[in-house]
Amino acid sequence: MRLDPEQLRSDASKMAPVWKGYFKRNKSKLEKMDLEVHRLHDKWSERIDCLSCGNCCRSLGPRLIDKDVERLAKALRMKPAAVVDRYLHIDEDGDLVFKSMPCPFLGADNFCAVYEARPKACREYPHTDRKKFAQIFTLSVTNAETCPIVYEVLSELIPDPAIAKRDRSHESV
Ligand code: SF4
Ligand code: SF4
Repeated sequence: MRLDPEQLRSDASKMAPVWKGYFKRNKSKLEKMDLEVHRLHDKWSERIDCLSCGNCCRSLGPRLIDKDVERLAKALRMKPAAVVDRYLHIDEDGDLVFKSMPCPFLGADNFCAVYEARPKACREYPHTDRKKFAQIFTLSVTNAETCPIVYEVLSELIPDPAIAKRDRSHESV
């Protein structure tokens, strides 16, 4: 289980060309594999405890929409403009994001202080339960560098050809 962020980044960046190559060759096959991806999502979401990780809240940060700001404002008993002023800014891509990371609502115990009111992007991360997963395959290869759930889903979905070859050679002995 890869909960060491540096190890995860290194492992995922080594696997990225393998996964991208598979996607290029098997795009239409992957388009019909949502059920398998979702099964793997459920399996690895159960095995990996987000409270032992917190990588996404520490390093990625969500893009917020107006409804997210309104929900946060209500939870924090602040005016939406005050939430924007205190916690948010527009980044170089024109997106509304947290001023700084780790997220200001992430606790030392990895709990989210605004869990019930967290932004939509936080609720949907890491997207491995999404319909039409093939459409976000390339994004998921990047997310595997941060999220161990995504890493394990992709690793099980697309076995490393070097390992598969080694296993086949064992079988023939
Ligand atoms: S709002 Fe909560 S879930 Fe979203 S990044 Fe911050 S701590 Fe994580
Ligand atoms: S969603 Fe992924 S990166 Fe975020 S806390 Fe859970 S396991 Fe870690």
